[in-house]
Amino acid sequence: MDIPEPGAHEGSVLVEAIAVGVCGTDVEIVEGKYGWAPHGQPHLVLGHESLGRVIDPGPSSGLKKGDLVVGIVRRPDPVPCPNCAVGEWDMCRNGLYTERGIKEIHGFMSERWRIEPEYAIKIDPTLGILGVLLEPASVIAKAIEQLEMIGRRSFWEPRTVLVTGAGPIGLLAALSVKQSGFDVHVLDKTETGAKPDLVRALGATYHSGSVAELPFEPDAIIECTGVGQLISDSIGKIGANGIICLTGIGHGGAVRKTSTADVAAASVLRNNVIVGSVNANKRHWYKAAQILANADRAWLSKLITRREKPENFMSALERKPDDIKVVIQFSAV
Ligand SMILES: [Zn+2]
Repeated sequence: MDIPEPGAHEGSVLVEAIAVGVCGTDVEIVEGKYGWAPHGQPHLVLGHESLGRVIDPGPSSGLKKGDLVVGIVRRPDPVPCPNCAVGEWDMCRNGLYTERGIKEIHGFMSERWRIEPEYAIKIDPTLGILGVLLEPASVIAKAIEQLEMIGRRSFWEPRTVLVTGAGPIGLLAALSVKQSGFDVHVLDKTETGAKPDLVRALGATYHSGSVAELPFEPDAIIECTGVGQLISDSIGKIGANGIICLTGIGHGGAVRKTSTADVAAASVLRNNVIVGSVNANKRHWYKAAQILANADRAWLSKLITRREKPENFMSALERKPDDIKVVIQFSAV
């Protein structure tokens, strides 16, 4: 559909869209299960995984024409709560934050968009279209920081990290943790195809069975599926003093043999921490840009399994068996 040119009030940096990644959140918004249009408007422009080229950097952004940038998604709440007041909008206390393409602000799925300079992350230009992976990578950068911070409560020398789920988030988690030199294991239900190969190419180990059957106890688990059984099995499998970081969002689903008291007892007796992690602040976006810049480009490029034109938007939202990350491409890099 035709929408107006972005207004100056949306930010002093004018950007030409290159690509927008799609994910499960976009599907939920299209299905009407999630998402909020801006106040007083009948629609929401989607797109929170952005990549664009600066057309006009404006007066004071420090950016140059031609720079590749990605837009930070969340904006602090207007009150603001204590966390938003110190720039930790990812930890917003009152839920009044807004998010581009998700909650009350239009997203990046348009040929041109504007952004405030402080919310534009400049990426390594050699990443090209791979910069569209920055938003999911920022979520992982935060999750890893949570693990590191919680680990400091005791002497903790983690060696083995398990990632559950080999979708884009899980694969980016495996990449990020591998860059820190850990023994990385990835578990997914898929037995063949690109995912096992991508995991092995990182020097990590791929598993397609259940978490309960793994022949080792992970020091840390990054849960990227939201599947109840995997979460329950992870709590049973984590090593002493180990930390489970939950990043997936699931709904319902039956789980075998779960008693809250038993789960609690297992966590008490082994000093475990189960922590939820969502979104990312500027520090995490910066770290994620470093992780992508340090990654093998050929490996990263295999995460983008399909590129669709903007007019084929609905096809981009369909989930096909071989999909890892699908992007809508607006212009050449
Ligand atoms: Zn807040």
